[in-house]
Amino acid sequence: MGNEASNTLREILDQSGEYLRWLKEEGVGQIEVSRRIGASRQQGVLTMKTLPDGKRVQTAGRMSVKKTVSAELATEPAGSKPRSVPEIAAEIAGCKRCVLCRTRTKTVPGQGNLSPEILFVGEAPGADEDQQGLAFVGAAGQLLTRMILAMGLQRDEVFIANILKCRPPGNRVPTPEEMETCLPYLQEQIRCLQPKVIVALGATAVRGLLHSETGITKLRGTWQEFQGIPVMPTFHPAYLLRNPPAKREAWDDLQAVLHKVGRTPPPVKPVKA
Ligand code: SF4
Repeated sequence: MGNEASNTLREILDQSGEYLRWLKEEGVGQIEVSRRIGASRQQGVLTMKTLPDGKRVQTAGRMSVKKTVSAELATEPAGSKPRSVPEIAAEIAGCKRCVLCRTRTKTVPGQGNLSPEILFVGEAPGADEDQQGLAFVGAAGQLLTRMILAMGLQRDEVFIANILKCRPPGNRVPTPEEMETCLPYLQEQIRCLQPKVIVALGATAVRGLLHSETGITKLRGTWQEFQGIPVMPTFHPAYLLRNPPAKREAWDDLQAVLHKVGRTPPPVKPVKA
């Protein structure tokens, strides 16, 4: 096996292992790996085998990885079974579709409840997220946690993801090409998760999901739609950290989200920065 293939395999194993550990902590005891992933890895790391009695067991396959591990996204043949969120994350772990694969530490597929009422979508991983492989774990993530708690929810009741799955160097704004290249992953995740509502956090999330150039200040608080799912644009928590007075408007948006999913907003004040 050449150096490049060997490095690719190591990267996939490291990042898939991290993600599987997190899934285990979240109580997910079993995942299925599609034949397509198995084929693309030529007998990849994990395969599912059906026994004569119909039971399905997980087996370790012979490892022989192609030199280039390509993402086969948004090309699901009509009528085929959609991939699961863990399967998508496994593919993201080896993705080299754009230049950000060269500078990332870990991919950040997103995490949370796999049948969420609410999906939060931000821009891209920052430094903390890049190190940990988890979305929204830095200062902005801590504020997002307080916002979720203020809504009367726990973080593990929602799913949290970003438009981009790899960190742009220096936290620069993602380019349109990077967003276009990475967006199929999020689209596929949304098809799996089927949330009742998507909360688009900040201008980049709005641009990625809605292809709208309207500023977030103007668009926030107005219902939009993505793949038939209602989308509420609101301010990114990082913006709220810099502009605490805007939390009042963000809280109004989150209350509208709670009403949309049929929940009564708890009688609390807007979250503190
Ligand atoms: S940002 Fe998205 S498309 Fe680019 S390498 Fe990462 S996962 Fe792949």
